[in-house]
Amino acid sequence: MKKTNYHTHTYRCGHANGNEEDMIQAAIDMGIEELGMCCHVPFPHYRKHLIRSLPSVRGVRSLLSLLKAIIKDGPNMRMPYRDMETHLELLSQYQKSYEDKIKIYKGFEAEGLSVYFDYYQKLLYEHKVDYLILGHHFHKHCISNDYFGKEKMTKKDIYLYCNDVEKALETNLFSYLAHPDLFLIGYNQFDLDVQTVSRRICQKAKDLNIPLEINAGGMRRGLKNINGEQLFLYPNAHFWDIASEVGNDVIIGFDAHDPSDFNDAMYNQMIKFAQDHRLHLIDHFDFLQGDFKKFQSEYDIR
Ligand SMILES: [Zn+2]
Ligand SMILES: [Zn+2]
Repeated sequence: MKKTNYHTHTYRCGHANGNEEDMIQAAIDMGIEELGMCCHVPFPHYRKHLIRSLPSVRGVRSLLSLLKAIIKDGPNMRMPYRDMETHLELLSQYQKSYEDKIKIYKGFEAEGLSVYFDYYQKLLYEHKVDYLILGHHFHKHCISNDYFGKEKMTKKDIYLYCNDVEKALETNLFSYLAHPDLFLIGYNQFDLDVQTVSRRICQKAKDLNIPLEINAGGMRRGLKNINGEQLFLYPNAHFWDIASEVGNDVIIGFDAHDPSDFNDAMYNQMIKFAQDHRLHLIDHFDFLQGDFKKFQSEYDIR
């Protein structure tokens, strides 16, 4: 199996270290053959998007970080829209200058927000990026109290996550599902509802032939004592036992936020996790391009 990774952030997302070249160099140093650069997708009219989410904010901290983002018209957690052309242009240059060392792809990690589906389609249609991955962090408003990885998730939250993910995968815009088990961080028991949600997500991905990602982000935080069991926040052992039963294709993702995130220890840990859970590992996947016709009317309006 080739060493590959399609989930790489840069400092442009506001919470990562390393520029495009730092990340590429670190990937080359650990022998990665194919690398996908995959910052959090920038939104056009970002300020408007943030202002619309103001009424949903709960808590002073969320409010302050949202206000900061509105003023900066840039990260809270995603690349500013004004950086996109420069970022993609730099990647085109590095694709050429590093071509005998590594194969570089352009991508974005994007939420399954239906208001942006036509925009995502445009990014793919115009070949701005090669692929998108679904990292469904938020339901509607990209603020921390709506975060699907928050500390306390209700039953309603997990079904909301499940419905959103199913709908998003059906668009064919997303080539794989990043950290599918993110919702489990804040839901401490593997009860019947979580089993149902996990099985639905795995089955939908399987039916559509879309791989699931074992994500290093949760592993980097180490094992936690959850209800007397030693588990990662994600990948969650119980979720992946279901993925194994369903027979999903599985890809590993470093979700690198720092050049040092590329290291063999983490690579081996992810591979071992996949082997322990008898998962069907793959090192490449089809880059899905959406269904242009489905979004055409909206696309024409813009
Ligand atoms: Zn993510
Ligand atoms: Zn990520």
